[in-house]
Amino acid sequence: MCRTDLHIVDGELLEPKLPLILGHEIVGSVVQIGGKIENFRIGDRVGVPWLASACGDCRYCKKCQENLCENARFTGYTVNGGFAEYTVADAAFSFHLAAGPGDAETAPLLCAGLIGYRSYRIAGKDARNLGIYGFGAAGHILTQVAVYQERRVYAFTKSGDSKGQEFARRLGAVWAGGSDEQPPEQLDAAIIFAPVGALIPAALRAVRKGGTVVCGGIYMSDIPSFPYQLLWEERAVRSVANLTRRDGEEFLEIAPQVPVKTRVQVYSLDRANDALHDLRNGKVEGAAVLSMGAS
Ligand SMILES: [Zn+2]
Ligand SMILES: [Zn+2]
Repeated sequence: MCRTDLHIVDGELLEPKLPLILGHEIVGSVVQIGGKIENFRIGDRVGVPWLASACGDCRYCKKCQENLCENARFTGYTVNGGFAEYTVADAAFSFHLAAGPGDAETAPLLCAGLIGYRSYRIAGKDARNLGIYGFGAAGHILTQVAVYQERRVYAFTKSGDSKGQEFARRLGAVWAGGSDEQPPEQLDAAIIFAPVGALIPAALRAVRKGGTVVCGGIYMSDIPSFPYQLLWEERAVRSVANLTRRDGEEFLEIAPQVPVKTRVQVYSLDRANDALHDLRNGKVEGAAVLSMGAS
């Protein structure tokens, strides 16, 4: 389960297929395959991400930007997703998953992990001091990757969230504080995972000259006006949309090396609405996962 599911339920994303089965971080096994499929066999462990398919033909697909494809389809948004016992997915856009951590622990890698990783890649290889605003599913996964790659992570939570800050420090963040605080050192880049537009000027204040602020979410509240001074000196603000298969393959290769450990709260399928409710109210630590087997 992902914050994007809430934005879809709330009508903040405008083009859902209706009626719709949500869910775009799917882990399961293959029970049936189409006639021409060669890359999967029955029984394979499989991961199905947000990008359900891209056309391969538009100007973006031709430039290796299938994440921006004009004709892209999205799992749990424009095609049915994974809040279900069975789902149908395009084999060409599904990932092989190695044996390893359980399905519930693996599920958050499929969106929080993949799209988080794309944000991280775009923040740049030379971003040694890396700020992460919003310490939910994506933040806690990315911190582990960044620490493994010897970055210095500065974690920003809601002000006063001492539990979240403690969690960030346990995962290796060199500093954790409220998003209204200034870090003790200037940041080379910052990634914002919380859907809060006011964090953009806050993050710009914390990054050095030439630094980048990356917005990793699909939805954000309006950005308040801010003085040009904050953007001056070649600071940049940019968003990250969706994922490419390359992002997925890279991340799924790195994750077991770290190894990324996810914290999950498991709900049975019939408690999907409770899980959405808890996610909305900030009551989920780590990631909420629906399990078809749980009761
Ligand atoms: Zn998502
Ligand atoms: Zn395309």
